[in-house]
Amino acid sequence: MAPSETIHLKISVQGIVQGVGFRPYVYKLAKKLELTGSVANTGQGVEIFLSGPCRKTDRFLDLLKTEPPPLARISDIQVSIATQSPRADDFTIVTSTDGSAKTTLVSPDIATCSDCIYDIFSPRNRRYHYPFTNCTNCGPRMTIIRHIPYDRTKTSMACFPMCPSCEGEYHDPTDRRFHAQPNACPRCGPVLSWYDRQGNRLCLDNEESLTRCARALADGYIVAIKGLGGFHLAVNATSDESVRKLREKKNRYGKPLAVMTADMEQAKQVVCLGEKERQLLSSKEHPIVLAVKKESPLSSELAPGIRELGVMLPYTPLHHLLFTTSGCPRVLVMTSGNLSEEPICTGNREALARLAGIADYFLLHNRDIVTRVDDSVARVVLNRKRIIRRSRGYVPVPLAFKGAKRAILGCGAEQKNTFCLSRDDQAFVSQHIGDLKGPENMVFFEESIEYFRQVLEICPTEVACDLHGDYLSSRYAATLELPLQRVQHHHAHAAAIMAEHDVDRGLAVIYDGAGLGDDGTIWGGEILHVQDCRYERLAHLAHLALPGGDRATREIWRMGLALLAGAGLDITRDSVLPDSLAAIPAGTRDTIAMMMQKRINTPASSSVGRLFDGVASLLGIRQDVAFEAQAAMELETLAWSSGETTVPETTSGRYKATITKKNNRLMLDYRPLVRWILDDLDRSVPVPAIALSFHLWLVRSTLSLLDHLASRCSTSTILLGGGCFQNVLLLEMMATGLEKKGLRVFSGEQVPVNDGGISLGQVFITATGSST
Ligand code: ZN
Ligand code: ZN
Ligand code: FE
Repeated sequence: MAPSETIHLKISVQGIVQGVGFRPYVYKLAKKLELTGSVANTGQGVEIFLSGPCRKTDRFLDLLKTEPPPLARISDIQVSIATQSPRADDFTIVTSTDGSAKTTLVSPDIATCSDCIYDIFSPRNRRYHYPFTNCTNCGPRMTIIRHIPYDRTKTSMACFPMCPSCEGEYHDPTDRRFHAQPNACPRCGPVLSWYDRQGNRLCLDNEESLTRCARALADGYIVAIKGLGGFHLAVNATSDESVRKLREKKNRYGKPLAVMTADMEQAKQVVCLGEKERQLLSSKEHPIVLAVKKESPLSSELAPGIRELGVMLPYTPLHHLLFTTSGCPRVLVMTSGNLSEEPICTGNREALARLAGIADYFLLHNRDIVTRVDDSVARVVLNRKRIIRRSRGYVPVPLAFKGAKRAILGCGAEQKNTFCLSRDDQAFVSQHIGDLKGPENMVFFEESIEYFRQVLEICPTEVACDLHGDYLSSRYAATLELPLQRVQHHHAHAAAIMAEHDVDRGLAVIYDGAGLGDDGTIWGGEILHVQDCRYERLAHLAHLALPGGDRATREIWRMGLALLAGAGLDITRDSVLPDSLAAIPAGTRDTIAMMMQKRINTPASSSVGRLFDGVASLLGIRQDVAFEAQAAMELETLAWSSGETTVPETTSGRYKATITKKNNRLMLDYRPLVRWILDDLDRSVPVPAIALSFHLWLVRSTLSLLDHLASRCSTSTILLGGGCFQNVLLLEMMATGLEKKGLRVFSGEQVPVNDGGISLGQVFITATGSST
């Protein structure tokens, strides 16, 4: 066909193409190239009819593929010759039609763009200081969408009829707010209000509410601030007293609190930020970024004993305006507005009722939050972004998924729960749901599954859950009356990494807290050979005893004693105890010794998480934990502080690996480690140095195990997963050591290595398995 010959095309585009300025982009592009035709949203995505010379339509398709609008994610473009020739004289945008099979994607919430920031700080702009400013490139999406297709009437903006000016922008294809569904201005949109804890409204005005809020924060009060996907509890981050008060009232001790800084400059003053961290902080998702703390005026109570601090930048106009209001502290603690372990509040009345015991004041607004979404958490390790909690900004963007084209629901683990729904070649992992045992979290879990099913129009025909039938997620799965696949926990950890990186075979090192193994014992220090949907357990940490079962995860002195007894020491004798455990009464020790001997309420476990706890106990770091990884995080922090923070050669050092073999399975023996540690303590080796040696021992031992196994399985692919790989020192040393040996290493990047990734792994294994 000659390049000047006229051609009529029908182009179907799928992916995140609605609510992201796609049609205006197409409109402008067609106009620029002098092409005629039309563009419309359909249930399947966007449909374009295009007429013009061949060379121009080619150019159009090129640009569509290579330079789509910033928030769009194209998953598929189909081009065919149009059977009817479209309008010949102009290019038009056609209004929405409802398609039957909906494959449209819902966009996540996006941090305020620079154009909108410019608007709110320009005194002559009609949106000057307006806290709900947004456009097609930014603003709320998932958190306000009730149904699809994405249209204002189907969002919580439905009750705010646009004023003529907003209406004008909304219908002008050349305007940045063309078809921006949450478009609003001070005349027609939501408004801020200020309440006291008794529920009295003290004012209803944007400027005044912000002024009062800034003053209250400066005066040391706790303020509940309504945000995008829920409430934050905010206090001045430099005030020890305010932070302590917040911890007390929220019943959250020890656990790190994230902060929001006024801007990047301020962030740089409180944490060390490399190029990658700065990019991540100001990315369109604006997650909380974990970075190494600097000496700063911030309260020492924010993340006590831990090397990193979670920092985020303002991501809504409300945040930007609050920080520029006179008197507002430059750094605020911004923690989820909930009681410990409850889901984040979303409704005004709900927040006033539930948070009255915590917050002194409430900064509210009248735009409803349809879906709860927490802040996401990520960090950079070995120059790559690693998501630790995948929520706001990332959800519900699907992960490309080369599975069978079936609709599968993965119900996830019990802690740090997420669920996952698949359809075609996409997997939608939900936002962070949390610990399902927490009050009301089961309701949040079920509501969110319902929401995902509805807006993504996925009706699962199969369900997957953990092998542990008592997990609340497993019990839920069993009630669905669908074909059910039970997936071993650590196999699911490995599969999540396989799904993310499109790997079909490898050796998976899964170091984790706990999960039920297929032999009925508790696993958590596993090397699995994984291939498609199968696994074989090739090596594990030698069994530790957990005296008292679950209690041993909170009272970690139990693990300290268990390590000593496991290493053959008589813990009833005072003389064998290190100083750290000397305070444990003889009677208690007698009981533990007896429980271990008679195996009463003392399950066996290969958990590396529990090994970290036991070592922390022996080193006297702490004897009880307020949250699961507390002792391990402090142990890591101490190891970093030993001064040798560069990744050391893994062949030197004092502690050596001891590997035994049983039934063709390799076992890592921890008993020599325990004796080395006692010996070092005896010789008064500084605790940070022992902490580092322990990390080195684990890395070196794992590398020797893998040496044996990689050649035996003839694979050079290694997967690193499980909650312990949130330990930066461990991940860095392992990955570096493996890469030096020429092995390919994969770990969680888009998907957390912790239990937040389990649901994806469950779906992957189900999809790769039987094709019923
Ligand atoms: Zn914007
Ligand atoms: Zn308006
Ligand atoms: Fe796990």
